[in-house]
This record gives sequence, structure tokens and C-alpha cells, in this order.
Amino acid sequence: MAPLSWRQHTLIQALLSRGPLKEHDFLSIFADVTGKSKDSHQQLFNDYLRKINMELSYVQFELRACRNQYDGCVYYGVINTVSDEQSKLGTKYTVPQIAFYKAIIEAIVQDSSAQGAISNIEALNLRLENQASSSQAPVPTALKNFSMSQKDKALQEFVQDQWLCDTADGKIGLGVRSFLDLRSWFHNNEVPPCDVCNEAGIKADLCPNDSCNVRIHQYCLKAKFSSRNEKVCPGCGTQWPYFMTKAEAVEEEDTDINQPPPEPLVQKRSKRSRVFEENGSNSQEGGSNGSSQVHSSSRKRPRSSQNTDEESTGPSQSQPMTQAARRAKLEALEDLEENNAGPSQVTRRATRKSTRLQR
Ligand SMILES: [Zn+2]
Ligand SMILES: [Zn+2]
Repeated sequence: MAPLSWRQHTLIQALLSRGPLKEHDFLSIFADVTGKSKDSHQQLFNDYLRKINMELSYVQFELRACRNQYDGCVYYGVINTVSDEQSKLGTKYTVPQIAFYKAIIEAIVQDSSAQGAISNIEALNLRLENQASSSQAPVPTALKNFSMSQKDKALQEFVQDQWLCDTADGKIGLGVRSFLDLRSWFHNNEVPPCDVCNEAGIKADLCPNDSCNVRIHQYCLKAKFSSRNEKVCPGCGTQWPYFMTKAEAVEEEDTDINQPPPEPLVQKRSKRSRVFEENGSNSQEGGSNGSSQVHSSSRKRPRSSQNTDEESTGPSQSQPMTQAARRAKLEALEDLEENNAGPSQVTRRATRKSTRLQR
């Protein structure tokens, strides 16, 4: 096979050195190096990515696209396809930091209300003991002794490195790197998918009918409902409360809704162990509507192409919590920790226990 050209190397280098890039930035680099735009040369673009991925696969990397579910923007990034956190995060993060990251991801994807985020306090209160490799073995002291301030520092690093993000409403959500990286993990672990695009519905709107499991990304709802008078749940037919803002309506006119969603560039799905183990305590977790939404693999369906590529208006990158506020919160939490935590922590420990990020 012909080696990669300097043009293809430039694209890889840009993604490796600058981290995940917004679609617009990635496409303008493509235009710079090739002198052609993706819109008018889709085939060339696809060929580039295919060739790049063929080469990257030898070193277990992959160039792929994903959507940031908080603002709907598409990102391109190079990810490590080796399936253990140690190889992905290990050169930069310590063992307890990685365990902390895993605990946060699990807490976010298990949220039956699909907010796609947990509060700072919830994150800091996560118990790393549950992340120990075996329930029989003694918990490593490094996990046990991981303090609040160490957790807080790790949170900031994860946000900085885009493994996590600060959401617009001041919570902790998944970063673009996690959306890129955990794509197959979401599927293998039966994170309930969006009814429109079939990608994991981490941050999504839920059908107003409590007995219906349908969840849809906000940007998919927009694409689905904007051109239609009938705004009902595709699963149960319940009226879906969806109101398009004026700005969205204007923007909609410029949008080509026939554009395909960002497909994975290489589809690779190996069956791995599941997070949601048989009938772990998870099935009792959410009461009336929680558990039913966790186990919904039966609703998976082929992805549709009703997706749009419009820019979202959500300011997901904003960081509403100031350092001072964080510090104050942290101090309060450390006091709490010394007093051995309140009852909420006990319940949280019980409900989170069953799930584990397994690779
Ligand atoms: Zn969707
Ligand atoms: Zn429904």
C-alpha cells in the first residue's frame, strides 16, 4: 500500500497535537492541505480518512467523528483503540485518578433522567473502593486514601484535557474525548440509545410518557420536529413538548437535513463484558421509570439519516463555577468527609455498586 502523503500526515498531526478539533477547524485544515472543500469533494474526503485509518490501525489508533451531546457540535479526533484505561490515560494519570474517572463516567451514563451530568458534589463523593479490581481483594490504599482535594484537582485536569467538561449549568459532564473514545463502550454496555440516531443518549430528552423508554438528543429532536407539524414520540405517539425558538427556526432554513450524521469512520464493535450486570441492584435503582430505561437494548434500530449538522447555540464550554466557589465547596466537603459523610453518601454507595467499567 502506498504510504500516506504529507497532506494526510498533516491532518493526523493536527489532531494529535491539538486534540479533538471542531468539524469546522478540521475541515478547514483539510481544505488548506488539499485545496478542496469537503462539501464539493466528499469522495476525496472519505478516501483520505479511509487511508489514514488503514495506517493508524497498525498502531491501534483511529480517526473518528462524534457529536458533543451538550451542544450538538461535531468533533474529529484520533483515539487509542486499545481497550484499557491504563494504556489510554496511564501515561498522564495515576491509578486512583483513572478509577475516579471511571466512577464519574459510570455515574453519568447511569443517570436515568439522561441529564448527562452530575454535580461537583456528587462527583467528589463517588467512592473509589467500588472500582477495585475484585470485590474479594482488599481495596488498594491508593484508592482508599484519595482525598477530596486530590479528586478536585483530578476533576480540573480531566476538564482541561477534555475527558470531562463543565456543563453550562455548572455540572460535570463528559468531555469530547470521552464521547469519541467510549463510543463502542456505550453500545456494549447498553447505554440507552437515542431513538433518532441510535447513538448513546447520554444527554437527551425523555419521552413525557413515564412508561415509554424513548430518549432523543436535543439536536436530533430539532432535526426531527422542525420540519413537521406533528410532534409526537416515535415510540408511543404521546405529544412531545417541543418548541423551536425563533433563532432555530431561522437557522433551520439554511440547514440541509439530508446530511448524514457523523458516522464512525471505522465501525468496530467487539462484545465486551457489560456494565449492567444481569440483575444487579441497578434494576431496582430508579423506581418507576429508572430501571426500565437502563435496559432498553430491544429498542435499538438502524440509524436514520435525519440528522443535521447545524451549529448549536448551547454555550457548553462556559465555566460558570469560579475557582473561589470551587474552593469554598471543597472546604465544606472536606469538613463533611471528616465527619464521615451524611446519609446521602450511603445511599449513593448502595445504588452505584453494581456497575463497573469493565474492559
Ligand atoms: Zn440522536
Ligand atoms: Zn414515548
